[in-house]
Parts: sequence; structure tokens; C-alpha cells
Amino acid sequence: MKVKLQTKTLLALASVMSILTIVIAVASLASFRDFSIRSATDHTRTAAEMIRVSLTEAMLNNTIHTRDSYLDRIAQVQGLDEARVIRGRLVDEQFGTGLAREIQADAIDLRVLQSGEPIYALTDGIFSSEFRATIPYIAEREGDVNCLSCHAVPEGAVLGAVTLTASIEQMRKAAVITALAMIIVVSIFALVSIVFLRRMLNPLVTTASEIEHAVKRANVGDFSVRVEQRSNDEIGAIARHFNSLSESITTKLSDIRENVAHLVQSHPDDKGDLLSDTANTVSGLVKVSQFKQAIEEDETTEEVFQRLSEVIQDEFHFETYSIYEVDQNQKAIKIINVDGVAQAPIHWCKEDIMEKCGSCRAVRTGHHIDGTENTLICRAFSAEARRDDKCYLCLPVIQSGGVGSVIQLVVEQSHSVRLHQARPLLESYLREAAPVLQAKRLMASLRESTLNDAMTGLRNRRFLEEYAETLVNQCKRRGSAMTLMMLDLDYFKKVNDTYGHDVGDSILIDLAGIFLANVRESDLVVRYGGEEFLIILLDTDSESALAVAEKIRKAVEDHQFKAGNITLNKTISVGLADFPNDGQAFWQVLKFADVSLYAAKEQGRNQVIRFSQDLWSSMEKY
Ligand code: GH3
Ligand code: MG
Ligand code: MG
Repeated sequence: MKVKLQTKTLLALASVMSILTIVIAVASLASFRDFSIRSATDHTRTAAEMIRVSLTEAMLNNTIHTRDSYLDRIAQVQGLDEARVIRGRLVDEQFGTGLAREIQADAIDLRVLQSGEPIYALTDGIFSSEFRATIPYIAEREGDVNCLSCHAVPEGAVLGAVTLTASIEQMRKAAVITALAMIIVVSIFALVSIVFLRRMLNPLVTTASEIEHAVKRANVGDFSVRVEQRSNDEIGAIARHFNSLSESITTKLSDIRENVAHLVQSHPDDKGDLLSDTANTVSGLVKVSQFKQAIEEDETTEEVFQRLSEVIQDEFHFETYSIYEVDQNQKAIKIINVDGVAQAPIHWCKEDIMEKCGSCRAVRTGHHIDGTENTLICRAFSAEARRDDKCYLCLPVIQSGGVGSVIQLVVEQSHSVRLHQARPLLESYLREAAPVLQAKRLMASLRESTLNDAMTGLRNRRFLEEYAETLVNQCKRRGSAMTLMMLDLDYFKKVNDTYGHDVGDSILIDLAGIFLANVRESDLVVRYGGEEFLIILLDTDSESALAVAEKIRKAVEDHQFKAGNITLNKTISVGLADFPNDGQAFWQVLKFADVSLYAAKEQGRNQVIRFSQDLWSSMEKY
């Protein structure tokens, strides 16, 4: 159970006051009782002494027989109820039994007579108002009178005892009244204290509960609650400081939110939880910046797209989406990823966008396409998906002024709000991805251009240098062979000399076409040098390679090269060597193919020569 501070404090005070009252009452009653007994003891002792003196006097004056009325008169004295004397055994023996009342000794009297010690006590227990004292008279030689001169008793014997009964009712009443008065005073004091404390605690308690409420609201992002300053003391200062803290948090958070919203280029939502909204956006931005670092170090656009796909799945939790890449000529669309599967078949759009990228509204307009209200806004959206109540949001990635790629998110119509929520941050990711994709694409095309021969469009020697190792590994892995074919135009210098370089160039271009037409797509045609070519036939045995070489030689021989109004016939010489049959190292086999080509030239040109060890031996002679 939650007990409020004020209740707790007042309860504590009330308990302390009650205990204090009880203690005071008990202590004062006890001390009154003690005082009463002590003063009664003194009084009775004095009275006993006076009675002794009077009786002794009466004995000396022979008026002892009147002692009864004397004792009655003593008993009349205020505060005394009874005064009675009894005789000791020895006195009885000497003078005979005394008066009737002097022989009616009770148990206490007898005890005192026997012990010679006085007994003082309240008559019926500790709360009695009657006090009784029984005091012995001891026979003394010394003192005012020598008792032994009359009494034939030894010194120190008990002659008798006097019993006095006194009422202490008055004292008890006085004690009770005093205790009551004290209780009343303490109670009034307690009451006043409680009222005063309550008043004093009130601002503290109210401020505390207001702060509690304000903190609860702040916990859910609402920092607008302020606390009233009720006093000028520390509590007031707490309220004042709390308000200024809230004020400064609100201002600073609003600033941060504005800036952060500016970063993600969205409008802050004023109704939302200020703190957690801002924290979420900031952590989103941190992830965007980590994403940026990661993709900058990626090698290819494929890796960047793969990361983007992971972000869509892991950060935004979309399972159905497409990533399209628009080719450099802004004509065709390539499918990069569909629902997390790379190079999957197109699914959420009609197929014709692949050939005609203008059908994609995002590519055509360069704007985001919101297909949540009206799915027909882009006609390329899959009719089947539309029937299944799906809707979409397409975000173009702008690279060098044009649309480089498009991210399409697809959700159930009932979840369309997710698309709007995801858009600002996803666009931040895309803004970071855009220049990186552009740079990677540029790098790739630059690289491509350095590996290709611009004139013939064939791969060049540089490409071969980079690719040779891959080719060799591929052969080893598959346990297959490849044939390296070196080809060189016969007497080509003459063409240049006779018809000029342009004619020569056009022959080289035509020649590349003939080569490509006579090999499989998987084979590799390389412009190795000026008018020297290398064809690598993959997965071929030596015999069929020779046949292909012969076919090419024949095709060139039969071809009529046309340049302007000139028609020419040219021939080529071809040298072949097999990997790994002729040599274990790629460049060695290439050398052997070159040796074979040299032999073909030597032996009259326009022919194909296969490598043999003899050729190498005869070459070494030179
Ligand atoms: P051979 O039968 O011995 O091969 O005689 P050839 O005249 O063809 O001799 P070689 O192969 O040494 O000739 C190379 C010539 O190819 C030299 C150069 O004029 C020509 N050439 C090389 N590259 C080009 C080019 O890009 N365009 C043109 N037009 N000619 C080139
Ligand atoms: Mg040559
Ligand atoms: Mg030549």
C-alpha cells in the first residue's frame, strides 16, 4: 500500500505524541504515588514518635490509664484514620494484658513485634488510598527517658507497636488531576503541532505530487507540464529549477528535432513523443551514416544493392519489394532484387518495364510514386498484386540528373501507413546510396573501357592479363582443357601502305566480326596486338579446336573485305597450342601458340599449324 508522505509524517508525529503522553502520565502518577508514600511514611513516623513521647509522659505522670481516649483524639487528627497501640509480650507479662483494643493484634502487628522492624504499606495493593504504618517501640536505656527504669525487659526488646492508618486519597486525586492536566496540555500541543506541520508540509507534498505527475508525463515525451512555485524556500526552488529544466529540455529537444528532421527532410510530428521520436530518428541517422561508410568500401553496385536490400528487410521490416536498376542509356530496367532474392524474375510490376523503362512512372518522372491511395497511379503495377489488395511506394534514386535505380516497397493496403512512416528515413538511405552507386557505376564502365579495345569492341591484352588466372583456375576446377589460337593477317602492312590506315582499320573491324561469328559465345576473342588476335576456345579437345581454326581461316579467305569502293581478299595464319596438354603455365602455352603462328608464316601463310615439341626445338636453334 502506498502511504503518502504527509500521512506518514503526521502518523509518526501522532504516535510520538501519544507515547509521550502515556509516558508523562505514567511517570507523573508513579512519582506522585512514590511521593505520597514517602510523605505518609514521614508523617506516620512523626506521629508515632509523638505518641511514644505522650505515652511515656503519661507513664511517668501515672495517667497512662487515659491512653485510650488520647489515642482516639489522635485518630481525629486530619489525615489520620486510626491510631492504635499494642503491647509486646514482655510488657504483658510485667503489667498484665492491656485494654481490649490493645490485644487485637493482626498479622502485621505480630510481625513487627517479633522483628522490631517497622512496616509501611498501602493497605490493599498498589492502588489503595489507605496507608498503614506499624512502628515498633524499642526499649532503650539512653534517650530522653530510660525505658529500663520501669520495664523489666532487656535493652532493645520490643515493648509494643503503634499502628497508624492514614488516607492518601487527597494526594491521589491531586496526582490524577495533575496527570490529566498534563495529558490535556500535551494533546493540545500535539494537535497544534500536527496542524502546523500539516500546513508546513502542504507545499512540499503538493509540489512533490506535481513533480511526480510532470515526470510521468515527461517519461512519455510530454515536457509541457510545469510545477507551481508555492513558497520561497528550498521547495519553491525545487519547483523553479524543475520548471527551468523542463523548459530547457523542451527548447533543446525541439531544436534537435528540427535539425534532425531537416537531415531526414521530413516534417516533425508535434503530437508524438518528443524524446523517443528524436532518439529514434537520431539512431536511424546513425545507421544511415554506418550504411554510407559500408557502401563506400563496397566494390560493386551489386554489393551496394545487396546492402540496401538488407536495410529494407532488417531496418524497415518490409518483405515484399523490388530493386530495379536503369541502364545507362535510360532505356531498359534490370531486376536487381525482388523480395530479398537477387536477380529474381520481375514480380510486382508488369514485364514491359524491363524493355521500356519509361513505363515505370518513377523512372519517367523522377518523383516518388505513392500508390497507396490509388494503385492505378502507375499503370505498370502488377494487376494481380492490385487484385490482392496490395499497394506500393516507389522511390527513385537520382544519379547524375537521371533515375539510376528505383526502390519499390509493396504492402497490404491495410498497412499503407507503414510506407509513409518509412519514407523519410529510407530516402535518407537512398540519398547516401545515390552518389556511391553513381561512382561505382562510373568506375565499372571506366574499368570496362580499359579492358576493351575501342575499335573492334573485343577484349584487349590488358583484360587477358587480368583474366588469365581465372581461366586457368576454371580449367583446373572443371578438369577441362582450352586451346589458345594466335591469328595474324598475312601481308597486312601492304594494305596500309597501299590503301591507307582507314582501309586497314576497317579490315580489322570486319575481321573481329568474322571471329565472333565462328566461335561459341563462351569463347574469348582478344585483340592481342595491332593485327594479331588471340582466340581462347574453352572446353574443346585438340581436334575440334583445329577444325574451328580451319573454319575461321577459310571464312577469312572467302570473305570479301569492303572499304569504300575497294574490295579485298585477305588471308590469315593461325597457330594453336593446348592448355594444359602442351604446357602447365598459361603464358607458356601462349608462347607455344605464337611459335606455331610463326611456323605457319614460315611455311607460306594462310594456314593453321598446331604446336608440337619439334617446333619449339627448331625455334630454340635460332
Ligand atoms: P606478315 O604476313 O608477316 O604478318 O606481314 P605483315 O605485313 O602483316 O607484317 P606484320 O604482321 O609485322 O605487320 C604489322 C602491321 O600491321 C604494321 C602496321 O602497319 C599494321 N597495323 C598494326 N595495327 C594496326 C591498326 O590498328 N590499324 C592499321 N590500319 N594497321 C595496323
Ligand atoms: Mg603481325
Ligand atoms: Mg601480319
